[in-house]
Amino acid sequence: MANKEKYDVLIIGGGPAGMMSAGIAKNKGLSVLLLEKNTELAKKLMITGGGRCNLTNAEFDVHAFLGKLKNSGKYLFSTFAKFDVKATFYFFEKRNMKIKIEHGKRAFPENDRASSVRYVLMKNMEGVEVRTGVSVSGFAKEGNEITGVKLSDGTVVSAKHYILATGGTSHPETGSTGDGYAWLREIGHTVILPKPSLVPVATKELWVKDLQGVTLENVKVTVKIKAKKGASEKIVKENNAKKIVRIGRLLFTHFGVSGPMIINLSKQIGDLLKKGGKGSVEMSLDLFPAFDHGKMNEKLLALFEENKNRLFKNCISEIIPGALAPIVMKMADMHPETFVHSVSRDERILLIKVLKGLKITADHLLGPEKAIVSSGGVSCDEVDFRTMKSKIFPNLSFAGDILNIDRPSGGYSLQICWSTGFVAGDSI
Ligand SMILES: Cc1cc2nc3c(=O)[nH]c(=O)nc-3n(C[C@H](O)[C@H](O)[C@H](O)COP(=O)(O)OP(=O)(O)OC[C@H]3O[C@@H](n4cnc5c(N)ncnc54)[C@H](O)[C@@H]3O)c2cc1C
Repeated sequence: MANKEKYDVLIIGGGPAGMMSAGIAKNKGLSVLLLEKNTELAKKLMITGGGRCNLTNAEFDVHAFLGKLKNSGKYLFSTFAKFDVKATFYFFEKRNMKIKIEHGKRAFPENDRASSVRYVLMKNMEGVEVRTGVSVSGFAKEGNEITGVKLSDGTVVSAKHYILATGGTSHPETGSTGDGYAWLREIGHTVILPKPSLVPVATKELWVKDLQGVTLENVKVTVKIKAKKGASEKIVKENNAKKIVRIGRLLFTHFGVSGPMIINLSKQIGDLLKKGGKGSVEMSLDLFPAFDHGKMNEKLLALFEENKNRLFKNCISEIIPGALAPIVMKMADMHPETFVHSVSRDERILLIKVLKGLKITADHLLGPEKAIVSSGGVSCDEVDFRTMKSKIFPNLSFAGDILNIDRPSGGYSLQICWSTGFVAGDSI
């Protein structure tokens, strides 16, 4: 085999994890080849954070950060000992990319551009041989050694060491089609079946379409299975037993709701849907969680006092997004051309009910094509996280979404790419 080994390292997948490991290996003086089936690198990275790239979460306490990864966190302590959140800040800032921290410790490039993150990775990879438009179709192996990767044109490329960074199965149009999972199964690795895990929610109500792009900050959502009409008190109590309450940001889309809070709730919403059936889950939105009914009444009275002679829809738009005004008015049974001075007490009370309990119905979760991450991947028990090497094939390493690691949204996924990518490249 030795005479066929042209490269020290061959990396499959030009996403954030593969690019990080390529640069690190190259800077150690190794010859590196990176194969990417798209015609460009980092296609998915460019759509992260809505094009702004939430590149990490500024939780600098490793225990607290890994505590968010449920059962997966325990595997990553040795990886984070070598490259943690602080190291990510240092890596990008040293390369002249300033980072800002927003709500929920979400870290973004100061200029809000994912392309800046890609630029830093590309610059750091200078000297790596990159072949784009090249699709890998599997591994060649002898015993417990990987001897090459097969390309879809039938040729085989060889190296001393291989890093698999082909990602998961979310947003397959970016190239993440789960190819690596099939190859790993073929060579004897355990792969946990991938399932979309962080996904937006489609709703039954069609009016959400009119709100597409509207964001509600600090909204309180209460999710529960709807009580069926005519259900006995006992059944109502049982159905309401699992009530999930969260406060955060919600984004309306053309099909339903999304945004970090909803995406992080999607697994639990999916579980309730499984229990109650399609269209069974109610999401009640409290647009003013800091105000109880009495305080809300005072707030509205003060607003109305100042705006007596205005149209109600224009006045209410001072405290809720304008696009939401006609929807709220319809729900509160108000005529669209109502003037503030003619709003009755009953209308005001109904209005408070709507503003503090806007009902939407979760119909279903969107599929893998819309997921932020897919759960599943190569079993963590088969990976040495001190080096990111396979415990079965010593000359194969893993980085990024290919690993079966649970994580919430908020920059956690990309941090895992930086940490695992760094350690994979550094440990060869
Ligand atoms: C819409 C969206 C928004 C997101 N926003 C954020 C965010 O703001 N913050 C965050 O932390 N995470 C976010 N994520 C998750 C984040 O994008 C992923 O965790 C990250 O891209 C995983 O990187 P990776 O390198 O492991 O895999 P990928 O980015 O999936 O890259 C894998 C690469 O391998 C290539 N490949 C696959 N198969 C082959 C093959 N057979 N031959 C050759 N090449 C192949 C693919 O074409 C692809 O380029 C978001 C995800 C989505 C879908």
